[in-house]
Amino acid sequence: MIGFKKAREGVLSFVKTAASENIRITESLGRILSRDVKSRVSIPSFNNSAMDGYAARSSDIKETPSRLQVIEIIPAGKTPLKKIKKGFCSKIMTGAALPDGADCVIMVENSRELPSGFVKILKSAGKWENVRFAGEDIEKGSKVFSKGVLITPPVMGVLTSVGKSYVDVFKKVKIGFFTTGNEIVLPPKKLKRGEIFNSNYSSLIGAIYSAGASPVWLGHLSDKKNDVIAAIGKGLKKADIIISSGGVSMGDYDIVKDALKTIGADFKFEGVTIKPGRPTSFAVIKDKMVFSLPGNPVSTLVSFELFVKPAIYKMSARKHEHIKIIAKAGFNFNKNDERRHFLRGLLKSESGKYFVVLAGQQGSGILTSMAKSNCLVEIPEGKVKISKGAAVSVLIPLS
Ligand code: AMP
Ligand code: MG
Repeated sequence: MIGFKKAREGVLSFVKTAASENIRITESLGRILSRDVKSRVSIPSFNNSAMDGYAARSSDIKETPSRLQVIEIIPAGKTPLKKIKKGFCSKIMTGAALPDGADCVIMVENSRELPSGFVKILKSAGKWENVRFAGEDIEKGSKVFSKGVLITPPVMGVLTSVGKSYVDVFKKVKIGFFTTGNEIVLPPKKLKRGEIFNSNYSSLIGAIYSAGASPVWLGHLSDKKNDVIAAIGKGLKKADIIISSGGVSMGDYDIVKDALKTIGADFKFEGVTIKPGRPTSFAVIKDKMVFSLPGNPVSTLVSFELFVKPAIYKMSARKHEHIKIIAKAGFNFNKNDERRHFLRGLLKSESGKYFVVLAGQQGSGILTSMAKSNCLVEIPEGKVKISKGAAVSVLIPLS
């Protein structure tokens, strides 16, 4: 048995950086940059107009109304050919390059076109008004993104705006996983008395995908040591990390650790002083991390969130420390044990302040309360008495 902090640090100390691959930007949503991205160009690459209107010299239109002669029309994409001299202007469209000599753009709404190639300016524009400067978003040679950044739609857009069509990302971490338990069956099989459905099968698939990793199903196993040994052997070939659910407590059929030890796994800890998730164990075998998660559906997911997800994130240089928020408790809670508790909570913001209530019953088999929750309320080890209104620490799932 080991404390929470030590267990988490222990896990993170075994993390090795994932390999990289080069993929199309259009297929990179949700992936993680494996290299800093620098821009070879300035964005915008030329001074241009932020408005449809008239490019002019601000000194010519100090007094309004004033009259200017239009010498050119500049649509976006066209190179301006004429320099703006005193008394002249060019009609310009949004995004078009600003002609030489001009230092402002008058919005079309503040002008009236006159016959015979003139325009009446009704409202003046200051120097550089409605002008977007070269490099105002990104300067040539500057770092646009750091390694470890999650690729979102705007990130994809920026990558293309700096001229890239491919990007280096971390390879998805492959998570081999199996579930255990003689009493567990998968729908659509019918339940016999004493049997339950394998909810960890699907919740773990979801947890793995939501961590940006890819699941490798190693099967559901009855509580037989040799089956576990075979599944781990398969996992070591096919996956980067192995996780299992169930069979890791103190019961007669809890054979997962025994199986792992038989094939030479080096256990770094067996059990953590947390609730839920106490039986969570962690071993290293052939340089791969193996997490033995408890079978209770809430314990499985809480352990995944607290230990497996940070490890996956760290493999891709992502931020792997949970964000903690201090919120006002909307519940009473007393405990006196050596464990750190993680309660399923529902965090709300009321008049700009955080407020957290319990999302339902807290038994480690009660998955519905976890399905309704959006955070974990962290209650420290030892004797704790929380009364309504007290400040509590709330942990937001890694995203
Ligand atoms: P174990 O850790 O194997 O002792 O399992 C603890 C509890 O979780 C038992 O009540 C099991 O029936 C239940 N459980 C184990 N594995 C699963 C699973 N895959 N899906 C749903 N419940 C499970
Ligand atoms: Mg079991």
